[in-house]
Amino acid sequence: MAVLNRWVVFDVGETLVDETRVWSTWADVVGVPRLTFMAVLGAVIARGGAHQEVFHELGLDHWEHHRDQLEAAYGGFTDADLYPDARPALHALWDGGYRLAIFGNQPATRTAELEALALPAEVIAMSEEMGVTKPSPAYFARVLELLGNPDPGLVAHVGDRVDNDVVPAAAAGLRSVWLRRGPWGLIQQLPQDFDPALVVDSLEELADRIDTAFTALPISPGSV
Ligand SMILES: [Mg+2]
Repeated sequence: MAVLNRWVVFDVGETLVDETRVWSTWADVVGVPRLTFMAVLGAVIARGGAHQEVFHELGLDHWEHHRDQLEAAYGGFTDADLYPDARPALHALWDGGYRLAIFGNQPATRTAELEALALPAEVIAMSEEMGVTKPSPAYFARVLELLGNPDPGLVAHVGDRVDNDVVPAAAAGLRSVWLRRGPWGLIQQLPQDFDPALVVDSLEELADRIDTAFTALPISPGSV
């Protein structure tokens, strides 16, 4: 039961969902040992590349050519793909009166899969159906629109990626929360002189400290 006029918006991959299984499935589908696939992915992330470049690095054809095979083998998100702290944190925030939503750079089919997990989120939408992707400003504008155009300062955005989540969410005027976990969260670094509204290492910590994201001074969009 939401009682506060504050939103907490969650990214999907490596924020709520542990992507180990989907990346392992990608490795299996293209016939590359999982360790090799993951290590090359890490190297691509470390040099600031897009994760789709893994396929080129491994001498494979475009990832989209394998998408149907991936989907058939992966079968979509299940409850077991959620990070163990995801459901308890969402419930703790919900019980604390926060309004919750889930958006991510993901195929449109993930929306129904997430809805089936019965998390306490009022709005769920994926980039493919939104027609915009992170880190585009249009993505964050669409997020606000789907929330009913609240004051961006009343919206915390929680994500693992500095480039796709933390910096562009702050630029859009949202309270940008960096969740430092997963390959991107551990490899990427904040730009110099850039302070997110909050930095946490788990969603359990987020649930404990979310108030500070809203009480910190607002981040000027012009500063990033
Ligand atoms: Mg993510």
